[in-house]
Amino acid sequence: MNFYTSPISKLIEEFSKLPGIGGKSAQRLAFHILNMDEESVKRLTDAITTAKKEIHYCSICCNLTDKDVCPICSNDERDKTTIMVVENPRDLVAYEKTHEYHGLYHVLHGAISPMAGISPDDIKLKELIERLSDEEIKEVILATNPNVTGEATAMYISRLIKPMGIKVTRIANGVPVGGDLEYIDQVTLSRALEGRREM
Ligand SMILES: [Zn+2]
Repeated sequence: MNFYTSPISKLIEEFSKLPGIGGKSAQRLAFHILNMDEESVKRLTDAITTAKKEIHYCSICCNLTDKDVCPICSNDERDKTTIMVVENPRDLVAYEKTHEYHGLYHVLHGAISPMAGISPDDIKLKELIERLSDEEIKEVILATNPNVTGEATAMYISRLIKPMGIKVTRIANGVPVGGDLEYIDQVTLSRALEGRREM
């Protein structure tokens, strides 16, 4: 089904690999780009390459940053005795927007899912455990998503951490079951954080 000259097909193919982009959207994007002026196309491609080149994981919390240590980990005002564990950087941003949380974070970059072949070694869990043995952590708040994989991940981490004598809490049920943290409003997130309970 090659209706287009190959550079166009290639562009459509690459777009269709992106999350949430189906065949039709991929075509629309490809043709939109072909209609853009050179200058705009260059700005777009530069933004992509620069972001990819300069952004990496914070050496402490695995959040995305262009520094060695992200602005949250290097902020002396933050409470360094509490770590909130989230699945991805978008969830971290969602919690930051509530302005209710002043501790540190740890970004797992995924959740454990045997069905999808994602094991504990595939997420940034080892990095979290290492932090817990080095730093003065009093509480770990498990804020993984309230769906099957998120709950399973929270249980797994809780079992690992509790024997270390650290308080482990789970965000409250205020978050709708099956919900994605990044789409939940700030009031609900603040309540979920406030109502967290010990595991
Ligand atoms: Zn960090």
